[in-house]
Amino acid sequence: MIKLAKPTLSTATVYADCISSTKNPKKKARMAACAPLIIQAEQELDTKVTKGLVYTIAHETLVNGNVSVDELKYVYTGQMVDHANGRVHYDKLILSAPFDLCPLCAHRDVTTLDHYLPKAKYPRLSVVPINLIPACKDCNTGKLMDYPKTPDEETLHPYYDDIDADRWLKMRVLQTNPISVEFYVSRPAGWSDLLFKRVEGHFKSFGLKKLYATQAGRELVGIKKQLIGIYGKRQKQAAVKKFLLDMARSKADVHLNIWQVVFYNGLAEDNWFCNGNFQLIG
Ligand SMILES: [Zn+2]
Repeated sequence: MIKLAKPTLSTATVYADCISSTKNPKKKARMAACAPLIIQAEQELDTKVTKGLVYTIAHETLVNGNVSVDELKYVYTGQMVDHANGRVHYDKLILSAPFDLCPLCAHRDVTTLDHYLPKAKYPRLSVVPINLIPACKDCNTGKLMDYPKTPDEETLHPYYDDIDADRWLKMRVLQTNPISVEFYVSRPAGWSDLLFKRVEGHFKSFGLKKLYATQAGRELVGIKKQLIGIYGKRQKQAAVKKFLLDMARSKADVHLNIWQVVFYNGLAEDNWFCNGNFQLIG
């Protein structure tokens, strides 16, 4: 996960701009009357997120007694995504991810906005900026946990959680033939039980173990010949390590916990791998 700056967009402005394209005056007034409840929902999420309390936010089927879930979902799909009045805010949020890198998987490109809490269950959060995270399509549609049912199921929130300076993503080389690698969450000193479980939940929910292992498998095949050349007939293990560490350093400028950095560091730290066993790369 990658930390993003919390949006400074005002919920009141975003909601008002979105519903401004509503044609029917009666409906428009009904929608406008929800504004204070939408701001209240934003405040509740802001207070509860990262504390393991998100699961206590109630699901709703009707807002203010007369606005349906579908009507509030449409404020997002029809009036924020598809209408210029709301689209300006959508575009601003989507552009907030550095390098266009999806903050949830830290691998694929941002192509959409992901509702941290789904609008079908939390309709008041349908266009609330802190509930809208720039994301890739796969993270948006493929996550296992749609919403948290327990404190531990609260996935990481890029606007709030900041674990970028910790080396929490690790990789081990498996001495298989052909060689394979495994990514896992390693608990740094100072993390609470809740944070550790939330990071593990995030890792699982977004299928990151498989995603990174697949990417790493391709990368291994791509560097095999290079490693054989560097190792040479004189079995220069130190040169192999140096190459791998240089590769890790060159990627670390993007981010410390992207799989590529962890992959090259993990290979460099593995003596078995560096001592010629990279020839077992499939
Ligand atoms: Zn993603």
